[in-house]
Amino acid sequence: MDQTLLNADPHAEIREEVRKLCARFPGEYWRELDARRGYPTEFVQALTEAGYLGALIPEEYGGAGLGLSAAAAILEEVQAQGCNGAACHAQMYIMGTILRHGSKEQKDKYLPGIASGELRLQAFGVTEPTSGTDTTALRTVARREGDKWIVNGQKIWTSRAEHSDLMLLLARTTPRDQVQKKTEGLSTFIVDMRTVLGKGLTIRPIRTMMNHNSCEVFFDNMEVPAENLVGQEGKGFRYILDGMNAERLLIASECIGDAKWFIEKAVNYAKERVLFGRPIGQNQGVQFPIAKSYAQMRAAEAIVHKGLEKFEAGLPCGEEANMGKMLAAEASWAAGEACVQTHGGFGFAEEYDVERKFRETRLYQVAPISTNLILSYLGEHVLGMPRSY
Ligand SMILES: Cc1cc2nc3c(=O)[nH]c(=O)nc-3n(C[C@H](O)[C@H](O)[C@H](O)COP(=O)(O)OP(=O)(O)OC[C@H]3O[C@@H](n4cnc5c(N)ncnc54)[C@H](O)[C@@H]3O)c2cc1C
Repeated sequence: MDQTLLNADPHAEIREEVRKLCARFPGEYWRELDARRGYPTEFVQALTEAGYLGALIPEEYGGAGLGLSAAAAILEEVQAQGCNGAACHAQMYIMGTILRHGSKEQKDKYLPGIASGELRLQAFGVTEPTSGTDTTALRTVARREGDKWIVNGQKIWTSRAEHSDLMLLLARTTPRDQVQKKTEGLSTFIVDMRTVLGKGLTIRPIRTMMNHNSCEVFFDNMEVPAENLVGQEGKGFRYILDGMNAERLLIASECIGDAKWFIEKAVNYAKERVLFGRPIGQNQGVQFPIAKSYAQMRAAEAIVHKGLEKFEAGLPCGEEANMGKMLAAEASWAAGEACVQTHGGFGFAEEYDVERKFRETRLYQVAPISTNLILSYLGEHVLGMPRSY
């Protein structure tokens, strides 16, 4: 890998520390969890204790007060070491909604606990089975009754719901036909799941092709205290949108990390595996797909770094965040594909971890936003073509 760039990296020290931490969680650890779809409690605990999950929380609330590029470096390195940050990455960024739009009381009440890891804010309840990407068509409703909100509805793909104390929930508080714009009338709530589990809240895990701890959640007259509304009633969609650039840049960084893992693994194998009297990597048919995915990864990385720079400078970065997420997810997939192919049959053997990472990285072309929706953002908002929906 490019040593000059590595030396110039302002986060080289953090990366080194993350690498050391990840070395304690080798492939066998992840394989065993993958087989039983278990949650990596020890790994999440180690990241929490090291302060990485509180990286973005300001120091006044007990966090590390680091910038987004440091958080991106942490997550990239986790993936590049063969670990899986999906188990806890949301603890880093969901709290941004409370930080930016929450009341002083909410910040004082929740942020220190989230920073220390005592309070897990890992669940993000936006997607629903019927509305999917068409978020403003969501059907979960919250109705005000005295000092409470009564919530009814259902979410799907609420990742880590079983391993989270709090959930950030988006629900409709004014019916869609009673608002001028469909993006209005949605509100954001902090749900303390510990208080409502079994009393209006049901969580049902979904078994998926990779170990992701994603769930369906059901709300049946679930009570949420009035003071748990974040910001203004009806403005929740905007609050969620506000956090999306950060989320996209962080997920993109994870994809860059995945791509680096696949490329390193493929290169090493291509150099070691000898057939027909020479390493398979001497054949350009084996070299080129790996080299191509390296070029794709570097290009995506450059866009992601641009996005991080702009984000930290307080400049609009929607274009870079979206392009970076799409390109990085495609680069990690290309690198994964090259890695499987380079390994031949061994690419399918669990003990090589290639097939596990291959399954894990596929998600990012669909979630948290799918490629088509990114292209539509670029087509309409960046290039000014007509709106399609
Ligand atoms: C493992 C996993 C974890 C997840 N975690 C969370 C979570 O924690 N919280 C949460 O809220 N959500 C989560 N999601 C949901 C995720 O964000 C959605 O799956 C994703 O946004 C796509 O929505 P959908 O699945 O409803 O697909 P749909 O919206 O039904 O779309 C299906 C396909 O049609 C395409 N499509 C839809 N509309 C258009 C259009 N107008 N033009 C072109 N193409 C279109 C999409 O790109 C997609 O490929 C998770 C999903 C998965 C699989």
